[in-house]
Amino acid sequence: MVYCNIGSPKDVHSVQADDGQGIGLFRSEFLYLATNDYPSEEEQFKAYEEVATAMNGKRVVIRTLDIGADKQVEYFNLQKEENPAMGVRAIRICLNRPEVFRTQLRALYRASAFGKVAIMFPMITSVWEVKECKWACKAVMAELDAEGIPYNKDTELGIMIETPASVFVADALAKEVDFFSVGTNDLTQYTLACDRQANDLGKFFDPHHPAVLRALKIAADAAHAAGIWIGICGELGADLSLLETFLAIGIDELSVSPSSVLPLRAEIRKSIAKTCTLKMLEC
Ligand code: PEP
Ligand code: MG
Repeated sequence: MVYCNIGSPKDVHSVQADDGQGIGLFRSEFLYLATNDYPSEEEQFKAYEEVATAMNGKRVVIRTLDIGADKQVEYFNLQKEENPAMGVRAIRICLNRPEVFRTQLRALYRASAFGKVAIMFPMITSVWEVKECKWACKAVMAELDAEGIPYNKDTELGIMIETPASVFVADALAKEVDFFSVGTNDLTQYTLACDRQANDLGKFFDPHHPAVLRALKIAADAAHAAGIWIGICGELGADLSLLETFLAIGIDELSVSPSSVLPLRAEIRKSIAKTCTLKMLEC
């Protein structure tokens, strides 16, 4: 399956023009970055509903807030940190600020009545974090039930695999969720101890490193052992030179920028006919 990454509802027309089979990563941060104050539930709902409706039953994976690190939002008043990429970012902010999380989850669940919405949590390192996310979802569903607001009770919940910790405990995490999506940008950064923002790391920032590819294989095996699907939504997903490796590993979905869909699909057709090479073992 070839899905698309988008950053706002405006991008949906490119997904349709390039024939993406779904949206594998809708970065919800744009809503928070574009304003001077927390976006309301209604503002968020409108954005998610617009995308879900436009995609007409195709899966739309919406990632919950992933700010902090390189994406600073003033009104959050986050403390200055020495190493923000390893600081209070993404799911850590949501779990520390239940009201912010609740507002987003309510908007997401309400949008789930209008299409095939899936919710994805970023920067997971531990099983307890996922359990807390699921409790927050349950609380929101109970609220919507009490208010008589429609939503999809079977909304898929997934996590991003983008920290080495999540790879090491992937077997336990897989039992908690419906899917994994590998964020190779951050996974490469944290696995290789290479800041993804640094311009001078050159060949040291190497997403083809066997450690990164082995991490993908470990996560894929854990996902499949638990009967869930796994995709890649980091930039590596569009790397045609690794396509056969991804297929051999058993990656079920690649989510790329809309302009990469057609070349990727052409390559998939070609490579399905060929013997796969496991680059991962070439180390
Ligand atoms: C990733 O880390 O690969 C990813 C898709 O998330 P982002 O680039 O938005 O951090
Ligand atoms: Mg990331």
